[in-house]
Amino acid sequence: VKRDTPLGPGREFDAIRALRAQWGAIAEGLGDDAAVVDVPDDERLVVSTDTSCENVHFRRAWIEPEEIGWRATMAALSDLAAMAARPIGMFVAISVPTGWRRDLQAIGAGIGAAARDAACTIRGGDLTGGSELSLTITVLGGAREPLNRSGAQPGDALWLTGALGGPALALRAWLDGSVPPAAARERFAKPHARLRQAAHLRAAGASAAIDISDGLAADALHLAHASHATLAIELGSIPLCPGARPRDAATSGEEYELLVTGPASINALAFRTAFGLPLTRIGSVERGPPGVRMLLDGAHVDVGGGYDHFLR
Ligand SMILES: [Mg+2]
Repeated sequence: VKRDTPLGPGREFDAIRALRAQWGAIAEGLGDDAAVVDVPDDERLVVSTDTSCENVHFRRAWIEPEEIGWRATMAALSDLAAMAARPIGMFVAISVPTGWRRDLQAIGAGIGAAARDAACTIRGGDLTGGSELSLTITVLGGAREPLNRSGAQPGDALWLTGALGGPALALRAWLDGSVPPAAARERFAKPHARLRQAAHLRAAGASAAIDISDGLAADALHLAHASHATLAIELGSIPLCPGARPRDAATSGEEYELLVTGPASINALAFRTAFGLPLTRIGSVERGPPGVRMLLDGAHVDVGGGYDHFLR
């Protein structure tokens, strides 16, 4: 275990000291100018960064400070899941307006809880003032063979983890000034990066994957282009969060589930037993121009564009 380097005096360092104390063993080697990270010889380094911004990705009235930290961290980790990478470490950069200072420990608690949940150590970061709360989480992962978007083959089945539509329901309620159903709110506020599920699917022969943070329709299109294939999706087959409609499943963003291509023989029942999460075959990969064909009960549907980061 790498030792932390003692920090000097000052308010910024007091705040970092408090975060470090709260994070405990999930933070490692903080306090030097840069982190030194070991990567096993037989693995490649997989890196991604993700920003979560007040009034762009969430509003203060909607979710608790701890949830803001949790979801920003899980959103970043979800990109490691999409690559079937094992988390190695993360860097946390936070800009904190004066009005948020007393919430910093709670935000840090959410980051720490998500890091612990994913067994991903916090290796460093940056703390600064700012006009709006913003969290940028950079994640490092290791993978012998990262899974990417370009490996889908005609004849592959299209698999989806989880149930969709919850975040869309929650957002619709908040923007209408009402209270979202608890399950939908939970899907928005406490997402889980599908890291273990991705490793399982990789081992089961997955050929490509993407996380659907921008919504199924938009991210399926990215995968279709990357793989030079047509994806045919039956919307009616997608498990829904209670109250959501099949169209919500196509357009709901902030989902953090995985769209995976691979053999039709993947055992969905074993997956559900292992993870308590549905794995559903929602369509197939076909030879054809890059694109997505959405069907609902056999008829073509046009779901429009993807999910836009919405708040201004
Ligand atoms: Mg992604």
